[in-house]
Amino acid sequence: MLKNVQFKIILLFSILGICLILGMGILGIVNMKEMLSEQVMAQNVIQASQIEMQINNIGMITIILLLLYGIASIIISLFMSQSILKPLSKMIKAAPNIIEGEEKQNKKDIKKKKEVDEITNAFDRISNEMQENLNEVQRQKKQIETILLHMTDGIIAFNMEGEITHINPAATEMLQLTQNDNSFDKIFKKLHIDINLEKTIYLEDWTSSEQRIRVGDKYLNILFASFKDEKDRPSGVMAVIQDITEHVKLDNMRKEFVADVSHELKTPITSIMGYADTLLEGEYDKETQERFLKVIAGEARRMAKLVSDLLTLSRYDNNKVKQEREKFDLGNLVKRCQEKLQLEINRKNHHVECFVTANVPPVYANKDGIERVILNILTNSIKYTPEGGIIKIYVGFVYNDAYIKVIDNGIGIPEEDLNRIFERFYRVDKARTREMGGSGLGLSIAKEILNQNHGSIDIKSEKGKGTEVVIRIPTK
Ligand code: ADP
Repeated sequence: MLKNVQFKIILLFSILGICLILGMGILGIVNMKEMLSEQVMAQNVIQASQIEMQINNIGMITIILLLLYGIASIIISLFMSQSILKPLSKMIKAAPNIIEGEEKQNKKDIKKKKEVDEITNAFDRISNEMQENLNEVQRQKKQIETILLHMTDGIIAFNMEGEITHINPAATEMLQLTQNDNSFDKIFKKLHIDINLEKTIYLEDWTSSEQRIRVGDKYLNILFASFKDEKDRPSGVMAVIQDITEHVKLDNMRKEFVADVSHELKTPITSIMGYADTLLEGEYDKETQERFLKVIAGEARRMAKLVSDLLTLSRYDNNKVKQEREKFDLGNLVKRCQEKLQLEINRKNHHVECFVTANVPPVYANKDGIERVILNILTNSIKYTPEGGIIKIYVGFVYNDAYIKVIDNGIGIPEEDLNRIFERFYRVDKARTREMGGSGLGLSIAKEILNQNHGSIDIKSEKGKGTEVVIRIPTK
């Protein structure tokens, strides 16, 4: 294409130059010819010959100029093709490459932009994830703080310097801590616990990491455990404080109960063995033998009653008692119990009166169980009232409950013992009540039976004046 352009330019220049030179030559010759014709007409031969020569010269000059112009135009065209057109053609030739390069560059730029976009997106994603994680951590922190705040167990966290990093209100209250108690050493020195931070870390898996102490009227169990950082190095110690007062009380009750049972059984056994050995070793008259045998039989019966009471309680504890409920008349049952105990009443010369209100509806409960309760209460009134006492029994109805009230004018119960008489084996005067055949289980059995029948038992008493026992049983 360029060669074509080059050729056209040279052709244009050549034609223009030729036309110009030829035009000038022809114009000169025409002028000269006119001048020649004028001279010829004037018959000026010399001038005419001179003009003819000039016409010839102009012709020659025109031919020479045409030749020179031809050579010059060739040189110019060569020069142009070398210095202008060649680079131009190179440029044109190179143009696709440049465009290609530019395209490549553009592609590279787009790729780079894409990469930058991807990195920006990744950064956005990471920062979003980090924000979410941060939110999650904060949420968990708040959750743990709320748990700690409302936990009934006390928690204190210490750092490796023994400073408190976390403490909940339960811990402050249980250990009765003040503003001054702000470090591991101060707190546990005050509680007289021989422990230090290092010891808790190294004795972590040993039983000594648990301590039992008493603060005020409370029994506390303190458990020490170390916690570790991400590199598994100890970074602090946690103290968990539990209130075990109830547990200790129950434990003590259990110990007392075992001691009481052993004691209650040992006394009649010793007595039986003593009398039996005496009988075997010596020769006694019939009367003495009978007396000894009566003691043995009495003690054996006491043991049997004790064992049967214990079994009853244990059956109630394990919910093994069949609660067959039925409707029955409470007044009739009370009267039947009174009849059963008539022998003992007569023996102690008591005056017993029973008043039954007319409108008592039948109760719905376990009849055998309620009979046992009434017998226990009446027996107590008979036992703990000196001879010739007055015992009054009332059967009535109040709100939806039928009630039995037993009032005696016996020895009464001291105020300080009143809230303990429902405990197993609890007796006001151990020596005296044992003499009277009491084991301290009657009222606890009565309470247990009434609980199972949705009833209740209350006792009011004054030492030396008498006792009033009220039991309530629902009628519906
Ligand atoms: P016990 O078999 O010893 O009678 P209870 O559990 O029935 O056992 O009674 C507990 C204690 O309460 C008795 O040991 C006695 O000291 C006291 N007590 C119960 N009832 C009376 C009462 N009516 N008058 C005086 N003391 C009573």
